[in-house]
Amino acid sequence: MTDVKDCPKCGLVNPPSAQRCDCGYDFISRSVEASYLGKRDPRAADLTSAETALVLLVPGLGAVLGFAARSQGRIRAGNKMIIASMLMIIMPLAIFATFVGCR
Ligand SMILES: [Zn+2]
Repeated sequence: MTDVKDCPKCGLVNPPSAQRCDCGYDFISRSVEASYLGKRDPRAADLTSAETALVLLVPGLGAVLGFAARSQGRIRAGNKMIIASMLMIIMPLAIFATFVGCR
């Protein structure tokens, strides 16, 4: 275990402490796993707080602006903003429901 490890897959010489070769070969499980190098699995990444805030705030902000415009007498402009905000909320829900329904 104190010797350097020659990767059987790519031939790279790894330090004795290496658990996984750069190519993805795992010395412990003796199988090829996802490489530690490069980007992490994007599917494992959840929403960032900024994304969550934007997703929740943008439609809400649009609705607030719409109602503000309506209160100023700009009914048509306000209605458009409110409709756009509603679509921003309904469209993702409809798309989500479609995907769930297909499974
Ligand atoms: Zn390797």
